[in-house]
Amino acid sequence: MNNKTLNSNDIIQKICFFSCLIFLVAHISYFIVFWILEVYQLVYINIGSISFYLAMLLVVKYKHFNSYVYLVSTEISAYMVFASIVCGPDAGFQITLIGMTCLIFFAGYFSKGNHNYIKPIRISVAYMVFFTFVFIWFKFHEPLAKINDTALSALFASNIIITFGFDITFLAILTSYTVILEKRIEKESVTDKLTNIANRNGLNDYFERIGDQKNNYILAIFDIDNFKLFNDVNGHLCGDYVLKQIACIASNNSKDDFVSRWGGEEFVVISKIDGDIDETIAKLDRIRIDIDLFNFTYDNKNLKSTITIGAAKYENDETIDDWIKRADEKLYQGKHNGKNQTVF
Ligand code: GH3
Ligand code: MG
Ligand code: MG
Repeated sequence: MNNKTLNSNDIIQKICFFSCLIFLVAHISYFIVFWILEVYQLVYINIGSISFYLAMLLVVKYKHFNSYVYLVSTEISAYMVFASIVCGPDAGFQITLIGMTCLIFFAGYFSKGNHNYIKPIRISVAYMVFFTFVFIWFKFHEPLAKINDTALSALFASNIIITFGFDITFLAILTSYTVILEKRIEKESVTDKLTNIANRNGLNDYFERIGDQKNNYILAIFDIDNFKLFNDVNGHLCGDYVLKQIACIASNNSKDDFVSRWGGEEFVVISKIDGDIDETIAKLDRIRIDIDLFNFTYDNKNLKSTITIGAAKYENDETIDDWIKRADEKLYQGKHNGKNQTVF
């Protein structure tokens, strides 16, 4: 999933639309329940709420997400306060105010492009005030409606289910969204954007992974020959295309090798010595041969490119920097001796 897909207005619109439908269904259910219970104050209030959410569908359709969050928060708090006053504490409507704070932060997170976190905090504080108001109200007032104990218990149970249902659903969505983002950021931090292979961070991670096994590895650093001239003659975009192709050829050479972009037009390949060291060098040299033989096609032009490789086997207890430096010296040697060669 890419950035655009995750953060697009379309996703926010879908979430708003989905929540709007849930609220609509909830109010239709409440309407039927209070009709049966003959609590007419709440029958009328629910007709109002149903109309409100039908109007909200339009607000969502025209992507006024900020207004949607504010208006829905207001409706929820007004409804829950009123339902509590009518039904009394035993119906549990006041409890849903606690659960709804989750929804408010969820909305705040998904509309983070439009505003900061002050809004969810502000709305949650308002919910806290409403909750306290209802709590105090219960101390001095009897419920407006007379509802039998069984119905009150059923209302209480459904309000608990609604509260936990909301919290679990929204926290689950938020958590999985965060995990997806975390993974993407983690991947992006070790991946080179242009070539899609590992960058320097990725290479450092690989060094850590092979740890004290480095004795069994060869590090090769290769550099594209005369690439400045190539760019000057064919253009930077064509150069980018060649960089991508070369990264691809190097990666496809051996699935066991680790290929990374060191920077600019330089790449580092780490290859495990499997048996004979000459075979490993020959395997690395195959990257050079494959690039030499490859016909790069850009803008209907056939182009050629070559690379020079410097390779060094890890020597006991040397630092990574020293290892790279020795491979770099071999690369320099290769450049000096006429390029398009592998020096070990
Ligand atoms: P040599 O054979 O000695 O390596 O010569 P060279 O021309 O390749 O070396 P030099 O270091 O002078 O030039 C490297 C060039 O690589 C210059 C720079 O424009 C190009 N380059 C570095 N990064 C990129 C990139 O991301 N895209 C493109 N198109 N070119 C790049
Ligand atoms: Mg260079
Ligand atoms: Mg070069």
